Amino acid sequence: MTNIVIIGAGVGGLTTAAILARAGLNVLVLEAQVYPGGCAGTFYHQKYRFDAGATVAGGFYPGGPMDLVAQAAGIERWPAHEANPAMVVHLPDGAAVPRWADERRHNERRHAFGLQSDAFWRWQEQTADDLWNLALRLPPWPPQSPREAVQLVKAGLGWLGRDPGRRLHPHLILDAGRPVAAHMAHAPENLRHFVDAQLLIAAQTTSRYANALYGAAALDLPRRGVVHLAGGMGGLAATLAKAVEQNGGQIKYKQTVTRLVIKQNRPVAIETKRHKTFPADLVIANLTPWNLAQLMGDSAPRRLRRLPAQPQDGWGAFVTYVGLDAAAIPADFALHHQLIRQEPLAEGNTVFLSLSPAWDQDRAPIGRRAVTLSTHTRLKDWWALYEPDRAAYEARKQIYADRLLDAAATVLPSIREAADLVLPGTPVTFQRFTQREWGWVGGFPQTSLFRTWAPKLGPGLWLVGDSIFPGQSTAAVALGGMRVAASVLQEQAVRGSIRQDIPPLLSQVMEL
Ligand SMILES: Cc1cc2nc3c(=O)[nH]c(=O)nc-3n(C[C@H](O)[C@H](O)[C@H](O)COP(=O)(O)OP(=O)(O)OC[C@H]3O[C@@H](n4cnc5c(N)ncnc54)[C@H](O)[C@@H]3O)c2cc1C
Repeated sequence: MTNIVIIGAGVGGLTTAAILARAGLNVLVLEAQVYPGGCAGTFYHQKYRFDAGATVAGGFYPGGPMDLVAQAAGIERWPAHEANPAMVVHLPDGAAVPRWADERRHNERRHAFGLQSDAFWRWQEQTADDLWNLALRLPPWPPQSPREAVQLVKAGLGWLGRDPGRRLHPHLILDAGRPVAAHMAHAPENLRHFVDAQLLIAAQTTSRYANALYGAAALDLPRRGVVHLAGGMGGLAATLAKAVEQNGGQIKYKQTVTRLVIKQNRPVAIETKRHKTFPADLVIANLTPWNLAQLMGDSAPRRLRRLPAQPQDGWGAFVTYVGLDAAAIPADFALHHQLIRQEPLAEGNTVFLSLSPAWDQDRAPIGRRAVTLSTHTRLKDWWALYEPDRAAYEARKQIYADRLLDAAATVLPSIREAADLVLPGTPVTFQRFTQREWGWVGGFPQTSLFRTWAPKLGPGLWLVGDSIFPGQSTAAVALGGMRVAASVLQEQAVRGSIRQDIPPLLSQVMEL
């Protein structure tokens, strides 16, 4: 039977693993860390459980991406609790704008941005509805075989349905090639701040550059509902990991993959830092392209060998984890806040603050809460200091941690006095704990629909995670994971080696 090895137990790798294992394939996941989740993991430190990176979990509504994953992977339920508002956005002028999932959002936005902003939000919501309707048909974008091209056309025709006029509206076609800013010509300054900051976390770029279709869909996350997962964001990966094992797959932790052994242009084995070798007929790398290139060396496919030495755009994250006395938190304080202080955004000028829920006793000692603060940061400045001037690197780290705490103090004034633990982390830290080269997180900025990669890189070699379409976020990498699973199942079915009871949803997509 085909040996499938998945490198990395991030949300992308685990989604693919759980579905393939359920279809009866022989799946082994090798993970460097001692816990699953990668950028969406939750780690223990001094009696707290901190979300390492991702804190806002979306896509759990009926028919949404995580619901589809549950159906395909045989997950009965997610440990998810609804959160409304999804978050509160704090503008530089001091205004606080909650992002409600329900009708309250209209008044809130009118109040904050004026009546003239209605046209922007109408465009955003209609476009997002159309795009999500298409995305949830799991179109294989970009297609990599004649069969996938046919599936793409079928998904497109199903999407056009009874209303092709509306869906092929010139706006939608033009939006495929222009940025969100094309819809913001007369937008007030505070709306632009708001949209830019939200796009920075959802599309890794701002309205001037974010593709309009992608941007409209990404801005919709709060309206589609956000949840808190019991045990933190890591509860998502833990549920997927359990499904992998229940479906007959295996996960081995503390196994850092160091090399792919390639023979006749195909992977045949995987070697790990602990000097183990695992046979592999098919490898699915839940890695950045740079990480995979490094594991393959000269035998990497041409696309990987041609990569620039470092990512030319995209981001790292600076985070500060804080253990906090719960008394410092005002009553009815939402659990997620985006704090926009000034432009240029990022580098501590925009900070995302997330608190563990009071009901989640697993996250902190009694009477205390776990807080994750994060900001986007450029990678090169950290690495320029790290080796040659460690003292300057540490000083910079302190300056950034202070910036994040200053921003947090605008909504939690006594955060410094109430903290018994302040733990900063830079892109260097992210590289150490997620293995991602240079701590490059969030994948490619969504400037074009062609920016992210197609998953199949060569015979028996696949990529999954936030470098493939549709890009970053737990819901997006889960969609990408489903796409990879569907494509692999299709290939394996052609070879006749899979169980007949493959998940109904995927068999429908694959027309098996
Ligand atoms: C600070 C920050 C905040 C974020 N906020 C949000 C948010 O609020 N909501 C949201 O939805 N998304 C958020 N994201 C994005 C989201 O976390 C990611 O898009 C998603 O988790 C990426 O998943 P992935 O499957 O691509 O891989 P990763 O999370 O990168 O996982 C890859 C896994 O592979 C393992 N690995 C790597 N190399 C090897 C090797 N050689 N051998 C073995 N194992 C290896 C790693 O240890 C890791 O577990 C955030 C990201 C960051 C960094």
